[in-house]
Amino acid sequence: MANQKGGVAKTTTVASLGAALAALGRKVLVVDLDPQGCLTFSLGHNPDRLESSVHDVLTGEVSLREVILPTSEGLSLAPATIDLAGAEAVLLMRPGREFALKRAIATLDGDFDTVLIDCPPSLGVLTLNGLTAADAVLVPLQCETLAHRGVGQLLRTVSEVQQITNPNLQLLGALPTLYDARTTHSRDVLSDVADRYELPVLAPPIPRTVKFAEATASGATVLAGRKSKGAQAYRELARQLTAHWDTGAALETFNPAG
Ligand code: ADP
Ligand code: MG
Repeated sequence: MANQKGGVAKTTTVASLGAALAALGRKVLVVDLDPQGCLTFSLGHNPDRLESSVHDVLTGEVSLREVILPTSEGLSLAPATIDLAGAEAVLLMRPGREFALKRAIATLDGDFDTVLIDCPPSLGVLTLNGLTAADAVLVPLQCETLAHRGVGQLLRTVSEVQQITNPNLQLLGALPTLYDARTTHSRDVLSDVADRYELPVLAPPIPRTVKFAEATASGATVLAGRKSKGAQAYRELARQLTAHWDTGAALETFNPAG
């Protein structure tokens, strides 16, 4: 999950989609690459109390397996701590700095079916590590005016990563988030993005609901709570991605007219 803009639901998507994929029986690891540690916190672990984190993995001090924590929803978590803020500087001096996460994930030797990576809101070394390690990138996009700002820059970065560090990186598309079905505004924003860029806009859009804030505050994802439209949308996305990975089925795209 990558978008250098903050507040577009990258972290929420990693946690909720991860829980939905785990509910489908997949072994899922979620990786927190954001020094803020929001994913870590939202899955019930306090970053301030952790001994080791993804930071120590990227700098080569411990193995990825050693930092992985269980969470209440069947997800395994590679947690972040604020130390990660310093990882950029440490990695900058190292050869092959974009490959640190890819090499760490390779040591897992197929322990997991799916690894979801929560990138920080920047296009620095951490995000480059995420894009270099990934098979595919999904771009959560908040359905608000000016949502497209920065998308061009992100797509250029993806294309550079494809040319330089990860030729196999697949751009899955934009995932519309914080979608408001009651007005035409969200739809207008999405057709604007679809017109401007060669970026498929995926369906279903994730509706804006208050359940997400409630879930984060309780240390669980929306999937754990009572039925919500948001949980349903993430379940549907999980089903589609599973079909895409297992059978090559195309992902559904959003129809602005519909
Ligand atoms: P990012 O990781 O891109 O910065 P977050 O996942 O942290 O974004 O989401 C930003 C805020 O939006 C959080 O407070 C989160 O609870 C809220 N949020 C995310 N998705 C939804 C949604 N579908 N409906 C309502 N609030 C949401
Ligand atoms: Mg985040």
